[in-house]
Amino acid sequence: MHTRDIWSIKLAAWLHDPAEKALILLRGVPHEKVTVEKVLEVCFPEGISDSEKRIIRLADRWASAADRPTMPLPTEEKNPDWLKVRFWDKDQAEIIHPLTGRRYTLRDLYQDSWREIERLSVETYLDLIAPQDQGRRGMLGSHREAFLTLWRLLPERDPLGLGHLWSLLPADTRTPWHTIWDHLSLTSAFAGAMAGDPQGNVALMLMSIGPVQSFIEKARSTSDIWAGSHLLSFLSWKAMEVIAETYGPDAVIYPKLWGVPLVDVWLEKNGVKFSDPEPRWRKEKSDSNPLFVAALPNRFVAVAPFSNAQELARTISKKIRDHILNLANKAAKKLLEKVGSSFSHSMEEQIKAQLEDFPEIHWAIVPFGPFVKWDEEGFIDGMEMSELKEALLRFFPAEKDDLPGFLGSDHWRVLRSTLSDQKGFFVYTPNPGVLYPALYQLLDRVHSAAKEARVFRQLTQEGFRCSLCGELEWLTEDRHHLFLTSGKRRDTLWAKIGQRPSPWARKGEHLCAICATKRLWPDIFREWMEEQVGLAVDHFVVSTHTMALGTDLMDLLGREDCVEALGALKDWKAHFKDAARAAMPLKLHRELTSRSLNGWGSELRKLPGLLDLLRERENSDDPKEVESARQMRDDLMKGLEKLLGHKPEAYYAVLLMDGDNMGAWVSGTHPAKMVKYNELFHTRVQEGLSQIPSKEVKDYLSATRCPSPAYHSSISSALNAFALYAVPYIVEELYLGKLIYAGGDDVLALLSVDDCLEAALTLRCAFSGTLPASDKQAIWSLLRWLEEQRQHLKTQVGRGFVFLKNRLFNAMGEFASASIGLVVAHHTAPLQMVLREARKAERMAKSHGRDSLAVTLIKRSGGATQVVVPFGLRGNGVPKETRGETFQQTPVGVLLWLRDVLAREGMSRRAAYTVLQWLSPLSGPKEVADLEGLLSRNLAWQLQRQWSGKEDISQEMRELGEALAEVSLSMGSKGREPVKFLAGLFQVAEFLAREGRARKVRAR
Ligand SMILES: [Zn+2]
Repeated sequence: MHTRDIWSIKLAAWLHDPAEKALILLRGVPHEKVTVEKVLEVCFPEGISDSEKRIIRLADRWASAADRPTMPLPTEEKNPDWLKVRFWDKDQAEIIHPLTGRRYTLRDLYQDSWREIERLSVETYLDLIAPQDQGRRGMLGSHREAFLTLWRLLPERDPLGLGHLWSLLPADTRTPWHTIWDHLSLTSAFAGAMAGDPQGNVALMLMSIGPVQSFIEKARSTSDIWAGSHLLSFLSWKAMEVIAETYGPDAVIYPKLWGVPLVDVWLEKNGVKFSDPEPRWRKEKSDSNPLFVAALPNRFVAVAPFSNAQELARTISKKIRDHILNLANKAAKKLLEKVGSSFSHSMEEQIKAQLEDFPEIHWAIVPFGPFVKWDEEGFIDGMEMSELKEALLRFFPAEKDDLPGFLGSDHWRVLRSTLSDQKGFFVYTPNPGVLYPALYQLLDRVHSAAKEARVFRQLTQEGFRCSLCGELEWLTEDRHHLFLTSGKRRDTLWAKIGQRPSPWARKGEHLCAICATKRLWPDIFREWMEEQVGLAVDHFVVSTHTMALGTDLMDLLGREDCVEALGALKDWKAHFKDAARAAMPLKLHRELTSRSLNGWGSELRKLPGLLDLLRERENSDDPKEVESARQMRDDLMKGLEKLLGHKPEAYYAVLLMDGDNMGAWVSGTHPAKMVKYNELFHTRVQEGLSQIPSKEVKDYLSATRCPSPAYHSSISSALNAFALYAVPYIVEELYLGKLIYAGGDDVLALLSVDDCLEAALTLRCAFSGTLPASDKQAIWSLLRWLEEQRQHLKTQVGRGFVFLKNRLFNAMGEFASASIGLVVAHHTAPLQMVLREARKAERMAKSHGRDSLAVTLIKRSGGATQVVVPFGLRGNGVPKETRGETFQQTPVGVLLWLRDVLAREGMSRRAAYTVLQWLSPLSGPKEVADLEGLLSRNLAWQLQRQWSGKEDISQEMRELGEALAEVSLSMGSKGREPVKFLAGLFQVAEFLAREGRARKVRAR
């Protein structure tokens, strides 16, 4: 752009349509632009030039074409009535779920006059950028600030009292599946890129940072795992920040940066004033601060001026490398400072060498021109696309005369042929925006090819290797140390660090530059938060022991005689001072801090730490210390047992969740999950379109939808909302868990063994925004307090949306699913092993048809038990002919039901063993018909026989027996052995029912 700054164009482009357009359009007055005209007058008193207007017009057209299916029309009628959707009319306010095509009529929509709507809207825009007290005479800051402010804050204002519907207003009422906000954002992104290129040529850029899994998995503690995932997400933001600085956060089109706390911190530094309500990232002082959530993925797509794209990618790449090098140096300096040494040249060189190839950064750039040609008005000039065809052919070998990739799709075939034949089915002349899917395909493939072609540099490393990764040398002040065997490492940097208990190194640990950076990241990030946000946040260490004890402590706090009872521990008070305060599950933390417990609050926070400390001392070289520590721990455990009335819980659960087929979702290559174009039109328009008697139009409408920017934005906003809001809420507020990380569809959490099944089910439901089809109350009625929480917070899940704390989020929808691996382990089991098992369980859930929960029990006594249970939210896994399909008849429902029956007072503790014994000779291939009656009757009978309670449970046991038989036999159709499945189900249910686990939780 020659005349004006890129940000001015972006601001003007963002203001090309008012947010409330849908509510004004077709009211009989050509008035829908009034709001933005008034705002533009304030922002641009000198007006906007013709060349600027041209860019904005083009950007709007391209953005519209990229996201909206081109509208076919009957040849004889150019302006049929069905095309006029009056969104403000009660029956026509319809929006469509972006990923499922389900439609909703918004019956309570605002019905005020257009004059009033406009007045309120103008006020709201101007309040943000040109306040009243200054007479609205001009903008407060620069065009850049005004743009960033409107982009971030306006979607959250609600000038019309529409509530959350304000944030969902559609861009085009005829295809109401994407919001006006997504459209404005894409328009300003295109406008910025066009203005920045001498030819107005826009490029798509895809960049990725890795490796992800292998980096995160190298971990000794939950803190390491958090640090690995958070550090990667942070670096990813550092990359996107370069784009945000230069071309705006809207220029990153995947992931959606809107509403991401790390991005909000940057926005605030750039003049956006967050005030009402105060964002949580600015006030939350615990590690439940949303800045601790690693929400940003390691891969992003952006638009940029083609002429500058290469340079931009290089700049980003360099910035990332400089940044990580800086962090590593910082970590090393901290370590050296701790032992009283100073940073040396040789260590600087060692760090530099180790970081040469870290992280791996790959990028691809695909411009619109020369693949597409366009005329002065921005319309496609020539339908040949020979360059595009040639480029796609390298990745999509087309059969016979077919065209490759998107160019061979039904969608493009019809669009292209009717345009070249002048049949005139379509309202708009196509512009390059319609080819977004083709360019995206190309981008995706070029990027993968670049990744595969990477060359590894052979790094010379000497001596012994890092204890965490086993690949690199450990950081050392003296290279001779690298050759010392472990017994002789007394003077090494790490030996000195590990001498005293330190979160930076355990005894004997020696780390490389990368692993050290990860290990110290919690401290480095804490400093960052203090600098950037002004918050001092507690250290992040959560012990598995704390997790195991969570429910017991919670129960204790719930007792009326709690403070008196705690008196039993008074002799231990002196010992508590040596122990570290443990990070607690949020619920427990709140309970401990909100009540006056006669000083016991802070002691209880140290209890798990003290137990861990004693266990550590038992590993000492000094036999006396070992003996005294063992004695103390025994005494303390006995004291606790007396206090609680039972043995303290020693098990906890690790949950690992991963969305199914996410790669295919993003690339749009999973036909079964993609809706048809027809499903994206307003019902009224859909009916009109169905009347067009042309085969081409029918083919066009029944073609599978291709990914577009707003499609990607919908996936991204669903994943952002899930990771940033739903998961922390479910894990830490509904249940007694601790979130380690949540990045998009990936979740790692520690849970209490008592309610881990409920937590897994709730997470699965929130991911899709759907509830078990047959029983909408199923999750909420699992636990009494869940029902109360929901009333209190007005939490709702359903129809592809999640409504939480007064915000409405679109979820992934019912076609999406997720698999969960859940491992129940003893708190002393090595974490790395437990995590490996969790990863295995998750893979098991995937390999058993996905959308499943795999539970693994690792008992201390040895041996592991596993069962994989489909969620069956939509009734999958449950035979169709099953009468009265209820939640209890889904596989997960049956597991919960069985666990609760086994946990009941009056049910013999031997019930499960008896059934298992009875089952074992039935193993092996059997005819389903033989098994059905046998299983159902006998299971009911066996359970009934073990019952000594007063009430008559025979009817319930009959039903449970039937449900167990049906569910396990349905596994047969999945190629699994029903009896084996049933045995696994009983073993897991029995373990989770044992020691009153399930009962404790239900009664709370
Ligand atoms: Zn290492």
